[in-house]
Amino acid sequence: MADFDFDLITIGAGSGGVRAARMSANHGARVAIMESGALGGTCVNVGCIPKKLLSYAAHYREDFEDASGYGWDVAPRRFDWPSLIAAKDAEIRRLNGIYEGVLRDAGVEIFAGRARLVGPHEVALGGKTHSARHILIATGGHPVRATLPGGEQMITSEDAFHLKQLPASAVVYGAGYIAVEFASIFNGLGVETHLVYRADRLLRGFDGEIGPLLAEEMSRKGVNLHPSCRIERIVPGEIKQVILSDKTVLAAGCVLAATGRAPNSANLGLEELGVQTGEHGAIQVDDTYTTNLPSIHAIGDVTDRIQLTPVALAEGMAFADHWFGKGLRTVSYENVPTAVFSHPHVACVGLSEEAARMRGAVRIFKSSFRALRHTLSGRGERTFMKLVVDAQSDRVLGAHMIGPDAGEVLQGFAVALNCGATKAQFDATIGIHPTVAEEFLTMRTPAS
Ligand code: FAD
Ligand code: NDP
Repeated sequence: MADFDFDLITIGAGSGGVRAARMSANHGARVAIMESGALGGTCVNVGCIPKKLLSYAAHYREDFEDASGYGWDVAPRRFDWPSLIAAKDAEIRRLNGIYEGVLRDAGVEIFAGRARLVGPHEVALGGKTHSARHILIATGGHPVRATLPGGEQMITSEDAFHLKQLPASAVVYGAGYIAVEFASIFNGLGVETHLVYRADRLLRGFDGEIGPLLAEEMSRKGVNLHPSCRIERIVPGEIKQVILSDKTVLAAGCVLAATGRAPNSANLGLEELGVQTGEHGAIQVDDTYTTNLPSIHAIGDVTDRIQLTPVALAEGMAFADHWFGKGLRTVSYENVPTAVFSHPHVACVGLSEEAARMRGAVRIFKSSFRALRHTLSGRGERTFMKLVVDAQSDRVLGAHMIGPDAGEVLQGFAVALNCGATKAQFDATIGIHPTVAEEFLTMRTPAS
């Protein structure tokens, strides 16, 4: 049997790669991990974590405003972007250190630098070649800018985390996760914010009622929406002129492209080895995360399936258990819950009403209300909840929410959906009062 330097080499130390490397090492494998950037990958450095920190920062403006309804006299406020970025960077450095610690504690050897496959069992990095029985590609993805004249003037989410100064005005292009999250961050921090998107609604792919209701709330908070519009061109300058397809001209200190992400599969040596890739370069894998070459595997965003950290983590765990642990274990891609940290938050698990109707008859329960917190704050924000129920089996197929801490609320309901909970079981569950979440248990009359 061939002798290899390692049992596993993981390329990429992001969410999926670190989890797979660490768990494989815990199973007794000799593991190396290779990373060209900072440990922790997208989520830790330019994704979930810094985004949520900026989102918290942006929320304070409303919190200060709301406080006066509760008797607080809040002194004049000033926001300092460089202080926030410095605090965020310090926290990320701390997390980078934690990632290094957990890898070293598990006995994983860390190599810094850009890795490239040079054989079915060989990886080159920094002039040296290392061999492994298994190679796992967990190289994630990168932002894609829409192609248009002046498009190079657009920054991406990765740049937005490192802006030296907060612009006075910003245009955000797109209607997906990153677009609505960053438009909310900019707007909350006091930037004049325009959200330009080609579709007629936000968050296509979510339940059809989510986009229009989120648009209403974001617009109420001050985001200027430009639906069914494209950016035609951008005229450079310190203040850029952004010309839209409806001939509107916007002036903006910064234009953020939030028009999707593509897998990091180029220049990895895949073509030379004949590793199969699909649309946008997504690496094709089977249930065991194996490519058409038996020693080469891939997980996470580079496979372009569901681009979420918990999915990459689950795939990393399943990979480690399958190849170095107790045997075959697969990840279920049903009922993957997700939250969008727009203001207000959106979260969902299971099927949209549209997807459920394609499968059969459904009963729909929904509620729109002003949360208790906003009776005294005076804020007009409304919370929306919706349950999609299979008419025949009474199983709850989908739960959707727009409102405060929607992700926190729906995490537990995701467990219920995975257990096959019925609407009758929702109804029989005692609520926690007074909470927003209890409304999911008290919707009795189906919507017409
Ligand atoms: P990554 O975390 O991207 O890691 C890949 C790593 O591989 C990187 O560190 C990269 O430097 C390295 N690499 C690439 N090529 C090479 C090479 N040739 N050699 C060595 N190293 C290489 N998901 C959520 O669940 N919740 C959120 O709130 C959320 N917010 C997000 C916000 C933003 C702005 C973005 C962009 C993404 C967000 N995501 C969120 C998605 C989440 O970050 C990704 O799904 C997740 O990080 C994917 O993990 P991964 O391991 O596949 O790749
Ligand atoms: P999304 O796929 O969510 O959205 C992309 C947006 O860009 C869509 O509105 C799409 O429009 C639009 N678009 C695509 N191409 C063009 C084009 N050529 N011209 C104009 N508009 C275009 O991608 P994101 O970049 O927002 O995020 C990438 C992924 O990262 C997400 O899908 C998600 O999985 C993950 N993520 C998760 C987060 C979370 O969990 N909270 C937060 C951030 C990212 P249309 O709708 O018309 O197709």
